[in-house]
Parts: sequence; structure tokens; C-alpha cells
Amino acid sequence: LFARPFVFVKGAVRIADLPEMDRVEIAFAGRSNVGKSSLINALAGTSALARTSNTPGRTQELNIFESTDKPLRIVDMPGYGFAKAPKDKVDAWTRLIHAYLTGRATLRRVYVLVDGRHGPKPHDLTVMNELDRAAVSYQVVLTKADKLTARELDHTIALTKAAIAKRPAAHPELVITSSQKGDGIQLLRTEIAALLES
Ligand code: GDP
Repeated sequence: LFARPFVFVKGAVRIADLPEMDRVEIAFAGRSNVGKSSLINALAGTSALARTSNTPGRTQELNIFESTDKPLRIVDMPGYGFAKAPKDKVDAWTRLIHAYLTGRATLRRVYVLVDGRHGPKPHDLTVMNELDRAAVSYQVVLTKADKLTARELDHTIALTKAAIAKRPAAHPELVITSSQKGDGIQLLRTEIAALLES
């Protein structure tokens, strides 16, 4: 699956812009700057598939990528929690995210990215609440593990696990990643490939 390239299909600003529900989808969600683009690029084995949040344009949209090998679509959700966006914009993408997360039958799993340096923030918990309400499967992924000492990492892992344990439903195990060092990337690839088989 990940040995073949992924391609950018389109950016969707409205639900009507989304492609047909003809294949398995996984989505990546997280606060702006959490390392979402870096993680998608690391998974896909390229440095340029998902653009980083510093690039204007694509960041307010649902960016759609597809495997050229297997029937899998990756949906890169707009990063949430950036301070400077005008309210009407924030409202528009909040509605888009909500509509996507609650109405997409082919959405198999959401990867909720949480910054390894901070653990879950209120916005992350809001997204998890929404996913729990919509009964969408999700897995929490800690990013930027290389930025922490072993001790700091243990602390965030404990915090994050405690937040997940409070959820009403069971969820797949927390994954610890570093896009820079490659930690956790192969594990995530294996899990994503398994979703296609299930
Ligand atoms: P996005 O806004 O969530 O798409 O985040 P980006 O992927 O653009 O990353 C935000 C910043 O964090 C960039 O400066 C990245 O270089 C940095 N970053 C992302 N992932 C890692 C990582 O695994 N390790 C380290 N040290 N920095 C990272």
C-alpha cells in the first residue's frame, strides 16, 4: 500500500465537493501545527504530498489524497485552534468538519493527532467528544516524540491515556510517533493496511 505513491485529488470546501463514497477513507485531525502534514508525508514516504500549515491555500479545506495502489483515500482535515482566523471562517470549517465526521459512511477511522509536548488540549477533547457521539472509530496519535526526553514522554503518555480511558467507548491503542525520526510510522502503516482488509 505505502510502497506506491499517493496522489493529491482535490481540496473540498463543501461536502458537495467530496468524491463519491467508493472506497475506504481514513482522516487525520489535529490542532494547527500538531505535525499533521509531516505525519501524512512520512506515511506516504514523500516530503511534498501534504503541505504544511504555513502554506496558505489548502489548509482550510478537506484535502483528499488517494493511493495509486489500493482503494484507500486519506482525508487531511483543516487544522483547528489557530488563533488568527476570522470567526466566520472558523464557523464554516467547524460545520464542514462536523458534517464530514458525522455523515461519511466510508470513513473507517480518524487519527486524532495530539502534540507530544502538550497532551490533549480542550479542542482535541471536543473532537473526541464529537467522534464518540457519532460512533466513529478513532485512534489517538502523539506527535513529535523526538522533542521530548523519555521522562517527559512518559508523562504525556500517562496524561493522554488517562484522557482516553475516560471516553465512553473503547479505542485502539495510543500510537507514539516522530515524523522526523520515523518512530511509529511503520506501525501506523501496518494498522492502516489492516483497516483495508477488515
Ligand atoms: P500541521 O500544521 O499539523 O500540518 O503541522 P506541520 O506538519 O506543518 O508541522 C508543524 C511544525 O512541527 C513544523 O515546523 C514541523 O517541522 C514540525 N514537526 C512536525 N513533525 C515533527 C516531528 O516529528 N519532530 C519534530 N522535531 N518536529 C516536527
